[in-house]
Amino acid sequence: MKSRLAAVAALVVAAWALPYGLGSYTIHVVDIALIYALLAIGMGLAMGISGQINLAQVAFFGVGAYVVAILTTDNGYGFWVAAVLAVLATAATGLFVGIPALRMQSHYLGIVTLGLALGFINWITNADVTGGADGISGVPVPTLPGLDLSSEYLYYYLEVVVFGAGLVFGLFVVHTSLGRRLRAMRDDALAAGAMGAEIPLLRMTAFVLASLYGGLAGVLYAGLIRYVAPETFSIGNMFILLAMVIIGGRRSLVGCVVGAVGLTLIREWLSDFSAYAQLGYGVVVVLMVVFAPTGLAGIPARLRDLYHRRFGSGDTRAELRPFTPYPPGPRPAKDQTLLAVQDITKQFRGLRALDEVTLTVRAGEIRGVVGPNGSGKTTLFNVISGFYRATSGTVRFADADTTTARPYVLSLAGVARTFQNLRLFGQLTVRENILVALDRTRTRTIWQYAVWQPGVLRRERRLRAEAQQLLDRYGLADFAEAAPAALPYGIQRRIEIARAMAARPRLLLLDEPAAGLNGEEVQQLVRIVRSIRDSGTTVVLIEHNMGLVMSLCEKVTVLSSGKVIAEGTPGEVVAAPEVIEAYLGDSDLSELGLSTELPAPRPAPAEETTS
Ligand code: ADP
Ligand code: MG
Repeated sequence: MKSRLAAVAALVVAAWALPYGLGSYTIHVVDIALIYALLAIGMGLAMGISGQINLAQVAFFGVGAYVVAILTTDNGYGFWVAAVLAVLATAATGLFVGIPALRMQSHYLGIVTLGLALGFINWITNADVTGGADGISGVPVPTLPGLDLSSEYLYYYLEVVVFGAGLVFGLFVVHTSLGRRLRAMRDDALAAGAMGAEIPLLRMTAFVLASLYGGLAGVLYAGLIRYVAPETFSIGNMFILLAMVIIGGRRSLVGCVVGAVGLTLIREWLSDFSAYAQLGYGVVVVLMVVFAPTGLAGIPARLRDLYHRRFGSGDTRAELRPFTPYPPGPRPAKDQTLLAVQDITKQFRGLRALDEVTLTVRAGEIRGVVGPNGSGKTTLFNVISGFYRATSGTVRFADADTTTARPYVLSLAGVARTFQNLRLFGQLTVRENILVALDRTRTRTIWQYAVWQPGVLRRERRLRAEAQQLLDRYGLADFAEAAPAALPYGIQRRIEIARAMAARPRLLLLDEPAAGLNGEEVQQLVRIVRSIRDSGTTVVLIEHNMGLVMSLCEKVTVLSSGKVIAEGTPGEVVAAPEVIEAYLGDSDLSELGLSTELPAPRPAPAEETTS
């Protein structure tokens, strides 16, 4: 902490002293570099942090600059009033450009945002109000008492302040609840939705953040150069910007800044060879994408990984500690229904994955759902948790009709789930995985980021304390800072349960929680699930292995080909002729473990049915 403070202090002093040593042309280049750095932070927030490919950043830049130019020259607005209006206009543009992200992702989104940027460039090149190809000159010098901003030396200080505030705010976003949700959405939007994140709102937020930085950069540019013309906002510059972010490291805002400043300087040195230089940037970007996809900022972590792989794991003391049971919760009233699935049918084109399934779960129950592969168990969970919309039928949870509720609504209402094929957030640490689920606030509370940052910090402190408790309870404290993918399978399964329970659900849906666990781990799983139920959370458990089901569930529902073929105590269903027939029809009888013993170790299922 102290060394970090010292580093920041050194940076501030260096930033303050920098102009004293620079010539008038160099300070101009530095001023430009800072503007690009702001643009790059915005790009990083959208692309690297939120996973929203945004090739319209140059248009945001342009909107900011042009609104200032138009308002100050033809309309007689003062610079600062125009600046505020320009940033607002850019934010509105950000909302507009973000709309396609609600419907499409990845390279499709890239193409659409690039198309919007092209449209903007075309418009400024041809419209009267933007001065066409000639642009607009005569933007007034911004006025600040006691500071002559027509000097590029003094303008530098204005820029440094805006840039510093922008970087600090960006880092604040990334490392607190909003940024965590954005990163979780980037890693796995479905799982993030199941943890309560409102994906559409978050995608829009990503674009608005990017546009705010674009707008600020545009305002600073207009005030510095005092002339705006289309060539500044060209597709060529968009690609330079992209190169800055990719080379620097899109997932790190500091990396984006380094990329922006570095490339601006290099571009200046190579300005006599600009055609070759363009080619050079292209080659470097391709090399980066292939050999260092996380950019310069990601290289230290990659080297560390390489070192650990070469010379063994860094920390051999880490171990999965035993689970500490929850304190017993209130016993739910007898016969109180928590979940009522009524005549649910789910049709996938020609395939009826669920066929009029009816199932009622009492509060406080541990219900087993069993059935051969492909019988519709995961599909049933997907319908209950809002991932799939049922073709017909109704789902009621806690006396409310939730048939068409979205995953985040169900999550906030108290439904949590795990996934058959593990969907942890891969680029988040174990602690952050837990924190995402612990955060029960609605995404709209992000207004706090704009006006009440202490509120954000206070919540952050509370969440972190709760996360530590949960990590301790599940014996995961040793792995808190690890990336989930680096951990053994059994630990990842436990993290998923801990993450689901972090949401403090009333109903926990576990999809094959024992798949891939060894015998000892299965015994622990039994203890965990019992404790979860005793704490007052109702559990529905999909399990292939009757042994585990026998030892945990009071009641079992058997699915086959999308139909409920039996329901009752484990003993009853194992003896039911329909069940025996359904399982005998399955070629792999031994794997289904139709026995009352606890399961032997079994490899993880390879198939991926939860999409
Ligand atoms: P289980 O979990 O019982 O093994 P699933 O619920 O995953 O079975 O699948 C039931 C059936 O529905 C399977 O035939 C599967 O191929 C099909 N299915 C599941 N999800 C989809 C989907 N998104 N699109 C088309 N078919 C699907
Ligand atoms: Mg399944």
